[in-house]
Amino acid sequence: MNILLLGSGGREDALAWRLRQSPSCETLLAAPGNPGIARWADCVAIDPTDREAVVALARAHEIGLVVVGPEAPLVAGVADACRTAGIPVFGPSAAAAALEGSKGFTKDLCRREAIPTADYVRVEGVDEALHALHRFSLPVVIKADGLAAGKGVTVAATRAEAEQAVREAEGGPLVIEEFLDGEEASLFALCDGETVVALASAQDHKRVGEGDTGPNTGGMGAYSPAPVLSPELEVRAMQEIVEPTVRAMAAAGTPFSGVLYAGLMLTAGGPKLIEYNVRFGDPECEAIMPRLEGDVAELLLAVATGRLADAQPVTLSDEVTMTVVMAADGYPGTPRRGSPIDGIDTAEQVPGVTVFHAGTARHGSGALLSAGGRVLAVTARADTLANAKARAYRAIDQIDFPDGFCRRDIGWRELARAEA
Ligand code: ATP
Repeated sequence: MNILLLGSGGREDALAWRLRQSPSCETLLAAPGNPGIARWADCVAIDPTDREAVVALARAHEIGLVVVGPEAPLVAGVADACRTAGIPVFGPSAAAAALEGSKGFTKDLCRREAIPTADYVRVEGVDEALHALHRFSLPVVIKADGLAAGKGVTVAATRAEAEQAVREAEGGPLVIEEFLDGEEASLFALCDGETVVALASAQDHKRVGEGDTGPNTGGMGAYSPAPVLSPELEVRAMQEIVEPTVRAMAAAGTPFSGVLYAGLMLTAGGPKLIEYNVRFGDPECEAIMPRLEGDVAELLLAVATGRLADAQPVTLSDEVTMTVVMAADGYPGTPRRGSPIDGIDTAEQVPGVTVFHAGTARHGSGALLSAGGRVLAVTARADTLANAKARAYRAIDQIDFPDGFCRRDIGWRELARAEA
């Protein structure tokens, strides 16, 4: 089958790398792709959020599966356009993507279905929000809903901080919620609209600084699996959170198809949902893809065509993986672009290591340059997390990227537990 992959980040490089190894994958196209993806796929310079352009490209190349990496094409209805055109697509409809796009939508669904999540209220207007704050003890969490979603989450330790967050939202829709105490973990599940299966767990590192300090980023590193989400807790999260969500979406006539990424807080009372994303996480995808065994293209096609119940069960290797992101100086503020990068081939000679490209560009001369905030996602497989970490950093030390940096402590929580 011919496959078209949409996106241009490290997540898509990992997907392309894994799809290229799938026996059922014939031609692999990527739009727009990046220099890393170009190692595995033919890159086509179209806008992945342009529904007509995607459908036209898919038709022209007799594409049998479109795989959507990022959220933007999903929200733009690209998956809907493919389905309407009769092209199998891995990724949810725009309606089902509301699980990520609207925090209020997801919170209301959780309340209706008695899915464990933080207690909350939805408010609009500064006065209503200030009034609602009194219902919560400290710390309290204030989240922008709607268009600003994803950019405005404040965990306020004091009333003054909470009130400031409310005022800064300028009356826009907010979700105010109870603070959940615990450790975070991510659970990824594949769903074809009806059948849902757990794929893998991971833990990411959102803050730019070591010890989880400093501003939030898209993610500075991840490892998989996340043992803190024990098999028992994973079963609970599937039964109490993911499965009822999938049933509710189907019952509402907006079935969810694709990968559902549950951001969980593992509280003393069990796993609770913090948020859903409707696509793979980045860098979690880079950590998960190397663990997947079998024909991944066939698996994603089974998801896309509602045949997950009859598909081969998902199998994961016994190896664990760690991904360390190399970012450009300045990130997550204004990253320095256009800096030379060298040594990737040497880094990939470290056993078990693959260097995925997140934000790179190829200069006319053939030189590789940085072209984004997060630039490389260095992934290592090994028998233990400590060994995966050693390999990842050994590879990083081979990479010549003077204007880049990385966190040196990816996996610290789990490694400290393993040592204890
Ligand atoms: P992301 O970039 O992860 O998609 P987002 O902006 O969509 O984030 P959330 O995932 O809802 O927002 O929240 C961001 C972070 O804030 C969470 O990863 C978690 O660390 C913290 N957080 C959110 N809600 C809560 C809560 N109820 N209790 C404690 N911490 C929370």
